[in-house]
Amino acid sequence: MRVLWIGYGQAGGKLANTFVGMGAVLREKSYDGIAINTEEADFAGLNRIRDKVTIGRYKQKGRGVGANIELGAEIAQKSLSQMVDGIDKLNRRLEPEAFWIVAGLSGGTGAGGAHVLARELKTTYGKPVYGLGVLPSATGMPAEKEVLYLSNALKSLESWRRCFDNILLLDNQQYELGEETRESVEKMYGRINKDVARRLTLLLTAGGAKYPPQEVFDASELKATLGKDGQISTIGYRGESLRSRTRFWRKGIEPNARRLEEFIEESINVRRLTFPCDISGSKAAALVPYGRPEHLFAQAIIAGKAHLEQEMKIGEVRYGDYPDRRGTELAVATLISGITDFSRLEQMKKRIEEAI
Ligand code: GDP
Repeated sequence: MRVLWIGYGQAGGKLANTFVGMGAVLREKSYDGIAINTEEADFAGLNRIRDKVTIGRYKQKGRGVGANIELGAEIAQKSLSQMVDGIDKLNRRLEPEAFWIVAGLSGGTGAGGAHVLARELKTTYGKPVYGLGVLPSATGMPAEKEVLYLSNALKSLESWRRCFDNILLLDNQQYELGEETRESVEKMYGRINKDVARRLTLLLTAGGAKYPPQEVFDASELKATLGKDGQISTIGYRGESLRSRTRFWRKGIEPNARRLEEFIEESINVRRLTFPCDISGSKAAALVPYGRPEHLFAQAIIAGKAHLEQEMKIGEVRYGDYPDRRGTELAVATLISGITDFSRLEQMKKRIEEAI
């Protein structure tokens, strides 16, 4: 599916940069990107995105909005024509099938402004506008900052739901490692960004697989799964590298039908979702196994799909396989849309009440 990635704010810019970079590595011509920010310094390092738009200069002089979502929304409203001008140029060049606005939900610029832009794009272009919203990992944060981040996230998500066709949630907390692993925050963000880009790219590019699949999963299947009523979605993923004959000392698996079926079942484990939730009762789902053609066992896919249908209590899980003759991995991405369990958000609410 051709997607124009719109990185809004700092987290959004870095994520959009990762998506476009991943598209380039895969020689995908279906991605392009643009970064929008109130803070000019945040554009540094976005080496895959040429188009960068500084908004709100009249007020903040390129120095950001802090974590003020109201100011973020006000600037977005006043900068609509400036943003749409930048996007229009890319829209004509790429002719995307969807816009995907990516932003942190707990900051100010993207959290406050992304939905304002989404509403405008929907009315201007009549194409789907999806969101990718990042929830903060607040472990170890000073209480005051934690409260601000969490309440921003809850507030902005409410506004987003009214303006986007679908919002994919990415919860940074899902990626926290134990304290004993001393990973820098930047390194952790890099790891998260790559992981979600891999998951979503697998779903988005399956329809363009060069080797003929047994069952095609194209843009229309993906759009139908995402819906257009502001549903919230999460992506599960399970993947392993193949054992290499030449590099036998490295870890890796030798796929068989049972293994593929297990991967499908394990992909929806709550720890493997971008947003943790009980997925039973969700509205729709799609399943895409990826690997070498000889590893995509049809029976295993059918059995795994039946398992997901049972677990989610939904009639039909859409699916298609993604064969790649040169693949070095066996992987399964599962998109679950229209989730109904928001206990993680309830937890965030509770945490705010405890801390104030
Ligand atoms: P904005 O620039 O005002 O829109 O705010 P940010 O984009 O900095 O949003 C703040 C939140 O985004 C922080 O709470 C972090 O949790 C998260 N964040 C910042 N950078 C990244 C990143 O590169 N990746 C991910 N996954 N999260 C990030």
